[in-house]
Amino acid sequence: MNSIYVVAVDGPAGAGKSSICKEAAKRLGILHLDTGATYRTLALGLLRKGVDINDDKAIEAQLDKIDVTIGFEDGRQIMYLDGEDVTGSIRTGEVSMAASVTSKNAKVREKLVALQRQTAERISMIVDGRDICTNVFPNTPYKFYITVSVEERARRRALQLKEMGVAFDEKTLQQEIEERDHNDMTRDISPLRVDPDAVVIDNTNITQEQAVELMLSYIGK
Ligand code: C5P
Repeated sequence: MNSIYVVAVDGPAGAGKSSICKEAAKRLGILHLDTGATYRTLALGLLRKGVDINDDKAIEAQLDKIDVTIGFEDGRQIMYLDGEDVTGSIRTGEVSMAASVTSKNAKVREKLVALQRQTAERISMIVDGRDICTNVFPNTPYKFYITVSVEERARRRALQLKEMGVAFDEKTLQQEIEERDHNDMTRDISPLRVDPDAVVIDNTNITQEQAVELMLSYIGK
């Protein structure tokens, strides 16, 4: 096997991909690249420029003027927008929705997929997103699809928000999750789907530890 390898992981929002991948990466001694953060960073850049996110021409006119860079500090991924660390600012509901809408644009995807491939060129990584197995790294032998029921994802998100002291409406939460799934699964370019070669991990009724163990057992390292 090549000494540099990629573990590709796809799945819908809120399925626990990030936590599972972070832990698995730690145990494998490799980095974890969250590609959703690249779409979020670009979306924040577009919002800051006041671009209408439903206007493809307007989005494309700004793409060369927005600089998205990925850094790693002590294994932790840092996102830079035009040189500014925006790792914390890209986690709002507004940016989530804007990322979900703008990621439908072919030129947006082209720019960010190039950045993702380049980032994983020289060092082994677990890369998570929506089109990693199907499009970004189709040739890797390690492919996973992590999923959880919509109800359970809404319940977990509600718990997180409660802990953060953020007010929310449970029904709206579920609707938002369904809307983002719908956006991701029905877009024309690189929609979220299960790669035929991917191992499916249903994370609804198992613990994070069990999901990590399962993943590592397939990777066999
Ligand atoms: O994973 P996360 O929820 O942070 O991703 C934000 C948005 O970016 C998703 O809703 C999805 O539309 C988009 N995305 C994508 N392809 C990826 C990763 C994320 O289209 N590989």
